[in-house]
Amino acid sequence: MKVKKFSKKPDDSKKRISTNPIICYPNENLENENLNILHKARKYLKKESEVLIPPRDAKTFKVKMGNFFRIESIEGPQVGDLNLFQADNLDEKFYSGKTRALYGTHLSVGDKMFSSFPYLRSLATISWDSLDWYGYDKDGGSVHDVIGTRCDPYTSKLISGNDYHYCCHSNLTRALVKEKNLNISDAEKIVHDVLNVFMLTGFTNDTKQYFMKSSPVRPGDYLEFFAETDLLGVLSACPGGDCGSEHSSDIAKCFPLKVSIWNVDKKHLEGIKFSSLSKYNKNHGIN
Ligand SMILES: [Zn+2]
Repeated sequence: MKVKKFSKKPDDSKKRISTNPIICYPNENLENENLNILHKARKYLKKESEVLIPPRDAKTFKVKMGNFFRIESIEGPQVGDLNLFQADNLDEKFYSGKTRALYGTHLSVGDKMFSSFPYLRSLATISWDSLDWYGYDKDGGSVHDVIGTRCDPYTSKLISGNDYHYCCHSNLTRALVKEKNLNISDAEKIVHDVLNVFMLTGFTNDTKQYFMKSSPVRPGDYLEFFAETDLLGVLSACPGGDCGSEHSSDIAKCFPLKVSIWNVDKKHLEGIKFSSLSKYNKNHGIN
C-alpha cells in the first residue's frame, strides 16, 4: 500500500509523474469475429443438462467443445467462484492474471478466458452477460472480476484467527477431490484464481484496496460462455452470498446457483475459429 512514505521526493518528481499511460497489452488483435456467429447461434441453443450448486458448496460440470454453458442466479443474489480446466489435462487451467492484463479488472461479452502457460489459449469466450448494463459505477465497481482470488481458509485464519471450512477455495477443493478422486493436497494445488461471477468489486480510489458491494444479480440473470475446448468447470456458491457484508463465515444469506449446458446444431457455428495452443517454441533463449 502506498500510504507510508519514508523516502525524499526528488527535485524532478513532477516531471517523472507526468507521463501518460500506455496500454500494456493492446487487445485489438485478439480474434473477436466469432462473436457475431455466437450471437446468431445462441438463438438455437438446446439445453442438455443442469447442475445445481448448493449454497456454501461447489460442484463440477463438463462442457464439450462447441457447446455453451450458463451460470444462472435462481433464488436470490449469489456470487459464484469459477475454476476452468481443459477436461483432459488439468495442468491447463484458467489464468486469471493474464486474462486481467488483457481485458482489465472485470470481464463481459466477447472476453476470453485464457489458460495458463505454456498453453495460453482461450478456454471459453463469454457470449452473453445479462448484467452488462451495469458497466462501471461511480466507485469504479463492476461485476465479474478477475482481481479477487477466491475466499480461502488461510487468509481467513490470518486475519480473524478462525478456522472456516466452506470458503470457495475449500469448496472447489472438495468438488475436485470427488470428481477426480484426488487427495486433498493434490486437489487444492490445482485450485486457481477464479472468475468472480456476479460479484461487484473494485479498488478504492484512495488506497486502491479491493472492495465489494452487494451484487446487482437477481434470479434469472446469467453469464453465458462458449467452450473452445472440452472443459471441466468447478463452481462454488460463495459463503459471502451477495457479498454485500462479509464472506468466510456462515453469516451471509446464501442461495444456490445453476449451471446449464447447452448445445447447438453445428450448422449454426459455421465459420467459428476455435482457439489453438500457443505456438511459442518454448526455447526461452536456451540453445
Ligand atoms: Zn468465496
